[in-house]
Amino acid sequence: LQGYVGFANLPNQVHRKSVKKGFQFTAMVVGESGLGKSTLVNTLFNTQLYPPKEDVELTHETSQTVEIKSITSDIEENGVKLRLTVVDTPGFGDFVNNEESWKPILDNIESRYDTYLEQENRVNRRRTMDNRIHACIYFITPTGHALKQMDIEFMRRLHTRVNLIPVIAKADTLTEEEVAAFKERILADINYHNIQIYQAPAYEYDDQETIDENREIMSKIPFAVVGSDKEFDVEGGRRVRGRQYPWGVIEVDNEEHCDFVKLRQMLIRTHMEELKEYTNDVLYENYRTEKLSAMGI
Ligand code: GDP
Ligand code: MG
Repeated sequence: LQGYVGFANLPNQVHRKSVKKGFQFTAMVVGESGLGKSTLVNTLFNTQLYPPKEDVELTHETSQTVEIKSITSDIEENGVKLRLTVVDTPGFGDFVNNEESWKPILDNIESRYDTYLEQENRVNRRRTMDNRIHACIYFITPTGHALKQMDIEFMRRLHTRVNLIPVIAKADTLTEEEVAAFKERILADINYHNIQIYQAPAYEYDDQETIDENREIMSKIPFAVVGSDKEFDVEGGRRVRGRQYPWGVIEVDNEEHCDFVKLRQMLIRTHMEELKEYTNDVLYENYRTEKLSAMGI
């Protein structure tokens, strides 16, 4: 893939540590039906070596049902393996009353913390499995106007529990100007409601190149994404993944066309370790403390 940079290019130290332990990362996708979640997951997994293992579990929460479906695949680059799991949540927001649509998602995230906590409390902690969600990709309907009440409610309820990464779904249905204006409006709404979306810290010891790259990635949030499982031949004899329009092809892997590459880079290269650390050190730690104090411990 042209311009593709993957997890094999992580900074050396982090890289060496992780190569030994093996990379393992879990992301969740949430958003209304039809926004392209499943397509984006397939687009992310395009470099898979083995067919994805599907593992379906059902959760029944309150009167509503959201199916929680996780897909795990080992992807490999330059001899480095990453076990990537994506948890899909079909059914979110599909009910007549969506007031509590955030609840089954929050319950799922917290029950993963509970499982981890139980393992930590065991005497033999050698084989700890980490099924915690390291990033939650939230799909925003490409209306071009503002966030919906349901979006605000979801993010307000979840932001202290998971790293939230908002994306504009099906960005190819908006013009470049519409995307830019919509991004501003979304960030203003998020700010107004005091919602904390994922923000990468800047480290003093980072080199200028890393600082610039991180700043560039962060400046694209909410990422305007396009997903596709189709390829087309375009000018210059290139074969690209994209979506075809009468006037041409919108390319998934072209940074001039959308932010898919930036999202992928952030998840599996530049911010993978950081997202995992923040989940463990801050989000999980806060949950654990609240839980233990509620139990009077
Ligand atoms: P999900 O319900 O959120 O999982 O959505 P799907 O991935 O099943 O996609 C729903 C429909 O939207 C399908 O017809 C897809 O081909 C289409 N779709 C998916 N991603 C995109 C996108 O980025 N742009 C456009 N225009 N259509 C998309
Ligand atoms: Mg789907």
